[in-house]
Amino acid sequence: MAGFDRRIPFRRAAAGKAVPLGVHAGLWVSGWTPGAARAAVEGSAAAGFDLIEIPVPDASPAAGSATPALTVGLLEDTGLDAVVSLALDPSSDINTTDAATSARGERRLLDAVEFAAAIGAGYVGGVTYSAMTKYAHPATAATRANSLDVLTRVAAVAREADVRLGLEYVNRYESNLLNTAAQTVDFLDELGARGVDNALLHIDTYHANSEETSLAAAVHDAGAALGYLHLSESHRGAPGTGSLDWSGLFGALAAAGYRGPLTVESFSPAVVSAATRDEIGAWRELWSDPVALTHSAVGFLREQVAASALLTSTTEGM
Ligand code: MN
Repeated sequence: MAGFDRRIPFRRAAAGKAVPLGVHAGLWVSGWTPGAARAAVEGSAAAGFDLIEIPVPDASPAAGSATPALTVGLLEDTGLDAVVSLALDPSSDINTTDAATSARGERRLLDAVEFAAAIGAGYVGGVTYSAMTKYAHPATAATRANSLDVLTRVAAVAREADVRLGLEYVNRYESNLLNTAAQTVDFLDELGARGVDNALLHIDTYHANSEETSLAAAVHDAGAALGYLHLSESHRGAPGTGSLDWSGLFGALAAAGYRGPLTVESFSPAVVSAATRDEIGAWRELWSDPVALTHSAVGFLREQVAASALLTSTTEGM
């Protein structure tokens, strides 16, 4: 079988850019009604981003989510690219030996791939390998093996749709399975041994800051598997206002010749739903104006990219 290109394909603003800048829709809106979708996509384009990360919309009729066709129309009108994300929960966990729970998780992952394909997105990432929750016990060999089994099947379906599958490792309070880049590389190697060649390592700097010896070490450990980044401050507020070692991160990305998206992630209870606020513990309001936040974030990221050798670095094994 020919090797699969693990780099995420883009077709609009992010196409041809070495490090396209992205923004999580949760900076703008909660949910994906037509009005929310319009505000998020148009706001992201106006702020100067190349792509928007869209959490899989709630498909229940009561949610009133925008159709994929409406989302595609907004992307075409603004020239933005899109990627898709989700986090499994305890009722849809695949890091389990409970067959019914695992089946619900597999269905959610397949639905996410279908949504990505429907809006022309080439990436589905997030907490795709376990629930995003504080587990009461460590993962076991059996729950881990079930996660590998499910992801092997989901990755095969994603591959047919030209979609890459991202594994975003998170801190110990949000998963018991993948908490570091090194653990995620091992997990990806096991998927690779099963023939999966469209899975990527996704670093979130907020989580890495808690668990790794440094952000640079995380990038080094991720190596050629790294395909997507969430840039999120130590306190989840505006990038540049916390304690993250941004220059260390960008220096490591330049040294690695990273080519892929840099997506801002920041959450405020002023924007996210009460359910999301409660899931991620966004108790404090570190900002309240998405327009001000996104404009400062895109400026900060451009400064970091310019100050590093990222755009002039050569690729090594990417
Ligand atoms: Mn994240």
